[in-house]
Formats: sequence, structure tokens, C-alpha cells
Amino acid sequence: MWACSDCTMRLRRLAEMWAAPEGCLWEQLQVARHIAEVHPEEVPPPHPADCELCPSYARHDADDPARVWAEHRTRDLFMPPEVARLL
Ligand SMILES: [Zn+2]
Ligand SMILES: [Zn+2]
Repeated sequence: MWACSDCTMRLRRLAEMWAAPEGCLWEQLQVARHIAEVHPEEVPPPHPADCELCPSYARHDADDPARVWAEHRTRDLFMPPEVARLL
């Protein structure tokens, strides 16, 4: 993922937005979506039992066609868990 210019560009934009008071949720979602789509090997495994959302994603989205579960796990790569796991 760090060798990918698309990732680098998106993460740089994310870093620029980080200071914005209203947050940068859209950019965060874009980075997570890109990684889930283009770099599925980078998506972390399901969270351990301390995540409230993984069990429900596993139940409802076993095949995860929209990759929402993959994106949820991917946000852990670049966001603090207490924020990443809100979605
Ligand atoms: Zn990339
Ligand atoms: Zn989780």
C-alpha cells in the first residue's frame, strides 16, 4: 500500500484534512474504500472480541458485497480504534 501512488496521494490529502475542525470523514472513507478494493491483502483480519461491530458485520455481511466490513477493519490501519470502530 505504501508503494501505491494512489494510496500516497489519498493519505497525504487525509493528513492535510486532519487539522480541519469538522474532521475528514469523507477522506477517511475514501482511503478505506480504496484499500479494501485495490489492496485486499492489506485489510486486517476481523477484530478480537473487544469490537462490538465485527460480530454483527459477520452475521449480516458474510460475503460483504459492499466491502463495508473490510472498510471497517481497514480504518484501523490509519485511524485511532475508538474512531475507526464507530462505523
Ligand atoms: Zn493504493
Ligand atoms: Zn471490528
